[in-house]
Amino acid sequence: MFELFRPTFEANSLDHISIGRLLQDGIKGLIIDLDNTMTPWNDVEVGPKVAAWFKALKEAGIKACVVSNNKRKQRVAVVADRLGIPFVFRATKPRRRAFRAGMALLGTGPLDTAVIGDQLFTDIMGGNRLGLYTILVVPMSSREFIGTRFMRQMEKAVLWLMKKASAPKPDSPKAH
Ligand SMILES: [Mg+2]
Repeated sequence: MFELFRPTFEANSLDHISIGRLLQDGIKGLIIDLDNTMTPWNDVEVGPKVAAWFKALKEAGIKACVVSNNKRKQRVAVVADRLGIPFVFRATKPRRRAFRAGMALLGTGPLDTAVIGDQLFTDIMGGNRLGLYTILVVPMSSREFIGTRFMRQMEKAVLWLMKKASAPKPDSPKAH
C-alpha cells in the first residue's frame, strides 16, 4: 500500500522543481495544487520565485492548471487568472475524476502529466491511483484548515512507516 503514497520525487518548493528534468521525463502538462503548494493557505499572493518558475515553464512549452479542493471558486480563480492558467475548484482529490478533469483542461494523458502537491492523501495518492508522475512539495505554511492539520499527523505516521519498511510488502491476508 505504501506505493500509493510514494511520489516520483520530492522538492522543497514549486520553484525548486527542475523544468529540465520534467522535459527529460516527457512531461507536457502539470496538475498543480493551490493551497500550500502555490501560495500559503488561503493567500492569493504568488511569490516572485514561483511567478518566475511559471514563466520558465511556459517558455519550455509545459502547460499547467490548478486543481484545488478549495470550495471557493473566487479564491482559486484569482490565483489561476494571475498566472493565466485554467483551474478546477472543488476538485474532490484524491478521486480520479479530479485528475481526469485536470488532464482534460491540459489536453494531456496519464503518460505525460505530472501532479504537484503538498499532501500525500490527496495529491500524491490521487495521482498515483491513476499512474501519474507525482511530485511532493513541502507545505508553504502551517496555517491550515483544522481537518488538514489532522491529516498531517496521519501523514507523519505514514512517512515514518515508509522509512521503517525497507521494501514494499506484498498484501497479506487479514486473518492471522
Ligand atoms: Mg495543498
